[in-house]
Amino acid sequence: MFELAQASQRVQAAFRVIRNTLERIFTINTAQRSLTRAALERLAEDVPSEDDAAPTRGDEEEEKVERPLGLHEQRLGTVLSVLRGVGAKRVLDLGCGEGKLLRLLLGEPQFEHILGMDVSWRSVEIASDKLKLNQMGEKQRARVELIQGSLMYRDKRLEGYDAAAVVEVIEHLDAPRLAAFERVLFEFAKPGHVIVTTPNIEYNALFPTLPAGKLRHRDHRFEWTRSEFEVWANRMASRFGYTVHIQPVGPVNEGHGAPTQMGIFTRGGEQA
Ligand code: SAH
Repeated sequence: MFELAQASQRVQAAFRVIRNTLERIFTINTAQRSLTRAALERLAEDVPSEDDAAPTRGDEEEEKVERPLGLHEQRLGTVLSVLRGVGAKRVLDLGCGEGKLLRLLLGEPQFEHILGMDVSWRSVEIASDKLKLNQMGEKQRARVELIQGSLMYRDKRLEGYDAAAVVEVIEHLDAPRLAAFERVLFEFAKPGHVIVTTPNIEYNALFPTLPAGKLRHRDHRFEWTRSEFEVWANRMASRFGYTVHIQPVGPVNEGHGAPTQMGIFTRGGEQA
């Protein structure tokens, strides 16, 4: 009898440990949760199909590392919620890749004009196919523009927008390119809001399939710690007349932070 009671206590203790661990792993920042809930619900019904994708080897590797967290969907859902929340109507998706965010934006009438730009012609082509641009009704078609262009060069086509999303792009730019991008975006295009996401390298240690010291994608030129991102974001804000609010995306780990970090920049205004 005594043994039975002891065994039951041990089981209960084990459950407590598991529950606490799970809670720690899946503690998602409360503010972010409210921002993302609606978008995630929508995403659950509308996750773009993977089968017609033509990702590069690096994209596949990165996806494999991050997949257990459904991280890309969370990221896109969060960015969509922020764009919705700031009331943006004219929106840029810079480095739009194969158009997953564009597809979500098109699903919401709030976004009256959407411009997707990528330096890779192949990505622009894939995005165009996936969005089925040539089968779209006239009204819907008029809302979206897809262009090839580089964030290295000042581009008049990027001016006059309420907001720009730059999702998982900056880590692909080496130092001189990043410096050019900063001016192209914040000084010349200068949208009302800029949302930048990038990996948090501190979290890499928690990805079981990622060897120690390796970045998530072979084309990443860097991945930043939380303080490196904060320093960069604050520098951008003070240099170009924006305020910035930084938010984690994905499950927050006490020691390592969240897998993705997001900066929400607002031109001239109040903290986002
Ligand atoms: N935002 C997309 C794609 C991220 S991958 C998503 O989250 O799914 C990074 C993208 O940035 C690639 O599509 C790449 O072609 C694009 N890119 C890299 N350098 C660029 C540049 N100089 N100008 C515009 N796009 C660039």
